[in-house]
Amino acid sequence: MSGVGAVCHTLNPRLSAEQMIYIIRHAEDKVLFTDLTFVPLLEKLQDHFPPLRYVIMTDRAHMPQTTLDALCYEELLEGQPTQRLWPEFPETTASGLCYTSGTTGDPKGVLYTHRSNVLHALSVATVLGPDLRYEPRILPVVPLFHVNAWGLPFTAPLVGGSLIMPGPFLDGASLWDLCQSERVETAWGVPTIWQGLFTEIQKRGRKPDALRHMVVGGSAMPRSLIESYEQVGVDVNHAWGMTETSPLGTQGALPVNKFDAPFTERMALKASQGKRVFGVDMKIVDEDGQPMPQDGEAIGELYVRGNTVMGSYFKNDTATNQAMDAEGWFGTGDVASISASGRLTIRDRAKDLIKSGGEWISSIDLENLALAHPKIAQCAVIAMPHPKWDERPVLIAKPVDPLDPPTLEDVNQMLSQNLARWQLPDDLILVEELPLTATGKISKLTLRQQFKDYVLPDLAG
Ligand code: ADP
Repeated sequence: MSGVGAVCHTLNPRLSAEQMIYIIRHAEDKVLFTDLTFVPLLEKLQDHFPPLRYVIMTDRAHMPQTTLDALCYEELLEGQPTQRLWPEFPETTASGLCYTSGTTGDPKGVLYTHRSNVLHALSVATVLGPDLRYEPRILPVVPLFHVNAWGLPFTAPLVGGSLIMPGPFLDGASLWDLCQSERVETAWGVPTIWQGLFTEIQKRGRKPDALRHMVVGGSAMPRSLIESYEQVGVDVNHAWGMTETSPLGTQGALPVNKFDAPFTERMALKASQGKRVFGVDMKIVDEDGQPMPQDGEAIGELYVRGNTVMGSYFKNDTATNQAMDAEGWFGTGDVASISASGRLTIRDRAKDLIKSGGEWISSIDLENLALAHPKIAQCAVIAMPHPKWDERPVLIAKPVDPLDPPTLEDVNQMLSQNLARWQLPDDLILVEELPLTATGKISKLTLRQQFKDYVLPDLAG
């Protein structure tokens, strides 16, 4: 839609009906493009939508019988010129709209302009230049509705890259096969996806041949998983970003003077979320909004500002006023430290931090450390209410082998090498699967709902 005067709003089809109806109305969508899969769903919901024109992405032969007011995509294209002159309009004209995935409440809309999308693509192409050289073959395992597949539809053409689209099969075996058959060189996605691919790499005893680089973000990439990939020859770039930041705000490429540093030093750097990309300013602030030192020690809320950072939410003044400070900085809701050399470390989301006896426990730290346990495949830490301590951490884990699960004593013994006693989880809950959001992150919102009646062991009975 960029360049034609329309706004492309990519919609997540796995949202609940309520959220989908809310978003389509809020976005003031006019035309809805869909593939065949979602026609029955849309037929069911259409009476709740404002009047929409539907375009079904297929040819005449495959057009279904439908109650939707639908046009056929291939038929629309027929007889149209293949060359188009780009219209002239201001660069700040809107081109795209994405909604936050709602892990933290109601979905909020972020409108991108032609200018912000191009600047973001240029920034990414610049900082990742060496990794995107020679017309790379890029696998985005991130849906288009998740911040425009992290901007890759704009960045890839800029570097002459090809996008390999994975379709619905995101399990480790399918991704391994796809990477191999399509000679994927750089793969982008959230940690849960790379966990699955790595299990497959272990099973087959080798990585896909051409895969040499990976960009990972959306949630914290555990250091143990970064190390696993690096050991098989995949260069991991741990990035941080948000729907509100287009999304890349930082990226974690190693500086040249660290190429020969010892493995542990390189991995410690890679486990952080890296340095800001061009045009993004960062600061951390205390509870009164006062800037804190950038010394790697001080921890505060991360604020960002820049050409690729949102100035306001789409039609949502309340959320905008909550998020922006008086100087136009955007409050990310993430709690972080920034080192003297400008490397960002995300400690937690403010609302995921666990407050125990007046001290904070980082759920990300606990999860990262727990994942190094050989019997834990995936895990999440959430806070449970406690009358004395306020909150206590509980570890919810999917075991590697359900017949040989880890025990709390086991895990805590390992964790106590790095953590104080009061920081250790009070309980270990084993589950078959952890709930994921549509963007593939572990959904702590769902976990909190699932375990809302849970009582900590020292309070039970
Ligand atoms: P949602 O908030 O709905 O999940 P986003 O995809 O915009 O939607 O998520 C942005 C958030 O994801 C950030 O604020 C941060 O909490 C988290 N995040 C993104 N990248 C990382 C990372 N590398 N490490 C830790 N957290 C991350």
